[in-house]
Amino acid sequence: MSRFRSSRFAGLTAYVPGEQPRDRRYIKLNTNESPYPPPEGVLEAVAAAAKGLNLYCDPTALRLRESAAEVYGVTPEMVLPVNGSDEILNFAFMAFCDGNTPVAYPETSYGFYPVLADLHGIKKREIPLNEDFSIDPRDYFDLRCTVVIANPNAPTGIALGLDEVERIVASNTENVVIIDEAYVDFGAESAVGLTRRYDNLLVTRTFSKSHSLAGARLGFGIACPELIADLTAIKDSTNPYNVNAMTQMAGVAALRDNGYYMENCRRVAQTREDTLKSLRALGFEATASKSNFLFVRHPEISGGELYERLRERGILVRHFSKEPIADYNRITVGAPEEMEALIKAAGEILGRISLKHRSPRDSPEKGIRKQPQILRRKKEKKIQPG
Ligand code: PMP
Repeated sequence: MSRFRSSRFAGLTAYVPGEQPRDRRYIKLNTNESPYPPPEGVLEAVAAAAKGLNLYCDPTALRLRESAAEVYGVTPEMVLPVNGSDEILNFAFMAFCDGNTPVAYPETSYGFYPVLADLHGIKKREIPLNEDFSIDPRDYFDLRCTVVIANPNAPTGIALGLDEVERIVASNTENVVIIDEAYVDFGAESAVGLTRRYDNLLVTRTFSKSHSLAGARLGFGIACPELIADLTAIKDSTNPYNVNAMTQMAGVAALRDNGYYMENCRRVAQTREDTLKSLRALGFEATASKSNFLFVRHPEISGGELYERLRERGILVRHFSKEPIADYNRITVGAPEEMEALIKAAGEILGRISLKHRSPRDSPEKGIRKQPQILRRKKEKKIQPG
């Protein structure tokens, strides 16, 4: 830290994104990107937009808002395009939280929520999950806080039903409820339709996962026109040209081809279920993920150890070293052949462990355990097979 940093940010703990190493080729199953490339129409739209890069882009992103409104069944006044959905989360924390209005979110969820709260000096209310990592909607009724819930949740992948989301929104009419739908296209129910009926609901979307545009940085906020006007005021006061010209046109072309992406999401969901079966056959336990990732643990190897052993073999997955999820790894669902490579590598790693355990001269490797760890959680429920 330099001696010039404002004292407001002296204790800042920045968000650490998943690693993007360039030292060799990896099978990247760590940051939930799509294994499928953008279609030709998107690439052509980017090339055409690049010819006009000497000019500023449209700060109102009108064409993009119109295209998104059509696909999502809302009006353009209900859509704010952003530079990745992290940006709309930042705007929302700035617009709807303050000294009197804390933010509430599940204790185990997207790591950006606490970072944003600390950045803006907002009080946090972190609500534990059930023992099986599911969210109990009743924990979120009438909270008198701004509420943020990822649905499906990350990194567990477990989704709330639309009726449960609606009950949370309806019980917090004096506060904004943000439903972060980064992973909704892979099998959960969207709350976008509710934005026409509830003036306290903000739904956030990203094109980083289901729409193969992680590198372009595109997301959306969808809400009633008044909430969008508040968020636009924050956008215009921080970065009026937040979505660049190429990304705006990539987004328009992507929305035109929405069927292509929905088909890819179905393929990813199928690969997820196939992979789950193979991992279970190797002894893994998993949550019932509705996302483009699996959240798994194995009773014979720690999460950190499995992460390291896979990395040595050129396969990147995500490990979070904090409790209660330190035993787990989050594995992005890639292309079928990538998942086959993962299963083969996991089988080899586990095979070596059981060989070691059979030899009395060898002591167990660091991080390898004979007994599954029993997690003590808030509510006594068993992990449900997904
Ligand atoms: N919400 C959740 C739950 C996420 O996992 C992510 C991805 N890290 C985001 C939002 C942000 O995605 P992006 O900024 O790429 O749109």
